[in-house]
Amino acid sequence: MIRYVLLDVDDTLLDFRACARVCADAALRDQGHTLSSEALDDFMQTFHTVNDSLWHRMEKGEITREGIFARRFPMILEAAELPGNGRRMERIFRRELQVAAVPVDGAMELLEYLHARYPLYVASNATYAQQHGRLEAAGMRGYIREIFASAQVGASKPDPQFFRKCLEGMADEGMTEAGEKVAPEDVVMIGDSLHADIEGAAAFGMHTIWLSRTGGETVSAEWTVKALCEIKNIL
Ligand SMILES: [Mg+2]
Repeated sequence: MIRYVLLDVDDTLLDFRACARVCADAALRDQGHTLSSEALDDFMQTFHTVNDSLWHRMEKGEITREGIFARRFPMILEAAELPGNGRRMERIFRRELQVAAVPVDGAMELLEYLHARYPLYVASNATYAQQHGRLEAAGMRGYIREIFASAQVGASKPDPQFFRKCLEGMADEGMTEAGEKVAPEDVVMIGDSLHADIEGAAAFGMHTIWLSRTGGETVSAEWTVKALCEIKNIL
């Protein structure tokens, strides 16, 4: 029986693309690049191509999170053929990201609905400080009992060790009787990443709801939704 809900943040609760656009624009302006809206769209396409490939490499264990941060903006600048200090842009981008909080459609309504029914937790491969700050800025932090962030947990989604630590954290957090364990089948993971969120949680024995905006299909997810509002029909 589902007793706990574990939620991904980026592109599940907060619109990472909208947040990233604002933050990248700030980093570009710092380097003297004031891009038109169309040019910024092009730049962001490059950003996401590079960024997605780096996060995939981290999920596969090929590079570390620090490796992403060291490579990301230098690679993007090179691909976009723009001069600039990529390391400095990375710092500005992440500083701005601490407070960038554009909600995904229906995210607040979903949190209100779920909060009345389940203890809610967040599972993210980003840092605790960043996700805490952004959820706070979005007015969502109060709904979340605890944030499990991979840097603090010591493993990243989809590593089973990450999900194991989440269960331990939930049990420690006082929602259970003393000594009672939280089992994988007590938890549903909701996220947009088929690999990190869904396949990872399913392999660990959790229930899964895949947010697939493009309507993709998979046998890995127990349920698939195109929009967050559909989750009320499941939970
Ligand atoms: Mg995500």
